[in-house]
Amino acid sequence: MKKMEQIYEGKAKKVFATDDPKIVIVDYKDDATAFNGLKKGTIAGKGVVNNKVSNHFFRLLESHGIPTHYVEQLSDRETAVRRVEILPVEVIVRNRAAGSFSKRMGVEEGTNLACPILEYSYKNDDLGDPFINSYYIRALNIATDEEMEQVKNYSFQINDILKSYLDGFGIELIDFKLEFGRFDGKVILADEISPDTCRFWDKATGKKLDKDRFRRDLGDVEDAYHEIISRLMGE
Ligand code: UDP
Repeated sequence: MKKMEQIYEGKAKKVFATDDPKIVIVDYKDDATAFNGLKKGTIAGKGVVNNKVSNHFFRLLESHGIPTHYVEQLSDRETAVRRVEILPVEVIVRNRAAGSFSKRMGVEEGTNLACPILEYSYKNDDLGDPFINSYYIRALNIATDEEMEQVKNYSFQINDILKSYLDGFGIELIDFKLEFGRFDGKVILADEISPDTCRFWDKATGKKLDKDRFRRDLGDVEDAYHEIISRLMGE
């Protein structure tokens, strides 16, 4: 597979075309942003951690029957993935109150939820990824009901798989964000699952091992990303 021209650059990744029209290469950067791009910085080694951790999770999910865009890791920062049409919906799954949920609902961070919550936002930086529901998605033809049924079922399955997997490494999965894409007429998991897109709390101490260390200037940012890769993959 040949890496060709860059077709996109996002906040945390670059995407390159290949000689196969169905495959693109993602290249993870160390750039970090938060609060819709207002806070900017770099986290040394983040791209390597996110690439490897995300691929590790995607392989785990594939082994549990979840279809994903993952094809092959090419280097520390590069991965070949299926070229999808991203559904412009960010799916958030929550197991405990945190972040924007705590703020919006006035529920103290860390409060347990009686059941997992699924929520959607419209993937649009100019609008600040506004909160939407299934009626918005249907009314604006953002995705079909069949697609959203798949999205919902996969998201809860992914939550169960990741929660119990991480529990075995002493990590609690507080919440996370997923993105899905269309590939050959089917919905598959795309984007990444990493410390950038999840909240991971150490089960024993409650220490945050994710991007909140950057967002909230908690220090030890690089160490936290490294802690995740070393616990999960021994690196
Ligand atoms: N999240 C993300 N990208 C976004 C918004 C949220 O990856 O654009 C992740 C975030 O890391 C957290 C979960 O989704 O694990 C829930 O985030 P929340 O809605 O609480 O927003 P935040 O407090 O991060 O602004």
